[in-house]
Formats: sequence, C-alpha cells, structure tokens
Amino acid sequence: MQVHVNESILELVEGDITQQETEAIVNAANSSLLGGGGVDGAIHRAAGPELLAECRTLGGCPVGEARITQGYRLKARYVIHAVGPIYRGTPRDAELLASVHRHALKLASEHGIASVAFPAISTGAYGYPMEEAAPVALGAVVDYLRHHPEIRLVRFVLFGRRAYQIYAAALKALVPDD
Ligand code: ADP
Repeated sequence: MQVHVNESILELVEGDITQQETEAIVNAANSSLLGGGGVDGAIHRAAGPELLAECRTLGGCPVGEARITQGYRLKARYVIHAVGPIYRGTPRDAELLASVHRHALKLASEHGIASVAFPAISTGAYGYPMEEAAPVALGAVVDYLRHHPEIRLVRFVLFGRRAYQIYAAALKALVPDD
C-alpha cells in the first residue's frame, strides 16, 4: 500500500530489502557495525566483502543513530546502517526507535538521497514486538516527510505476510483519510 505525505510517498511492500532499487537501503545493524544475522547478514552477503571493509573504518555507532556507506554490489548506491534498540519494555524503546528512523533519514537528506527503503528495525533478534514497533517507526517517518520534501519515497520492506499486515494496519490507523 501507498500513502502520500505532502508530495512524498510512503509505501509498504512485502519483500527482501537486499533487492531494492531505492538509492539507499537501511540496514538493521548492531552498534559494532561489523555484521550480524538477520537482515544485516543478508545485506553484507549481497553487497560483498567491501561493505564490511568500509564498516570497519567507522568505529561503530551508538544506539539510536546511523552511519552511511557505499552499497557496493547492491542495486542501492548507499547503505544506511541504523542501530535500533534492544527491546526492554520501557518508554525509552520508542524514543530510540523513532530516533534511529530520524537519523537515517537525516543522513539521506544530507547526501542528496531521495529514495530510501527500511526493514522493520529491531523486530527480529532485538525483540521489539511488531505491533508496537510499527506505529513508532511509521510515525517517525511521516513526521520527517512532513518537513523534508527532498525525500520523495520511503518504502518499508516487510519480510513475510504477517509483518506486512501489521505495518499496513498501523499505517491505516496513522493516516486514516488518505
Ligand atoms: P534486529 O536485530 O534489528 O531485530 P533483524 O535482522 O533480526 O534485526 O530483524 C529485523 C527485521 O528484518 C525482522 O522483522 C526480520 O524478519 C526482517 N528481515 C530479515 N531478513 C530480511 C530481508 N532480507 N529483507 C527485509 N527484512 C528482513
């Protein structure tokens, strides 16, 4: 599904983030930036070893922030490595999850990137329940797009039908009139 936020598009698809042709894809990284399982492992495999080599030069990244690299063998020109929170069940989870989405989009704006694909950050190994993560992640992106028309497209790439349905329900609740 797709909604408009001013002139920009916020889109949800079911799929594999490594195959996206947006200018940047976002990685659900850990703070070492040295690779891991899940979406991180899939992105590193698809991008090739040059990605890890560049990540090693970055010196890690705090939770709630993001760093940018080239995309190497990916279709996307850039990878934005975003470090989401490990879910603890406190109000800080949502602050950090919103912050990581804002940071990733700020990097895109600064690099002249107009299209960005996100996975469902923190909802795998980091244990954030998808029903709770979806409105926080989507809400942060909608807020950003309202003030940053230079970002033309944000696509959430949800892994599997269940993930897609949860994010779609959250987006409908967020923009009921679209
Ligand atoms: P985190 O450590 O931030 O929780 P994970 O990679 O474990 O990161 O999971 C984040 C989300 O990414 C999960 O919902 C998982 O199902 C999803 N995911 C895993 N592989 C892919 C992929 N290739 N494309 C898109 N999403 C993926």
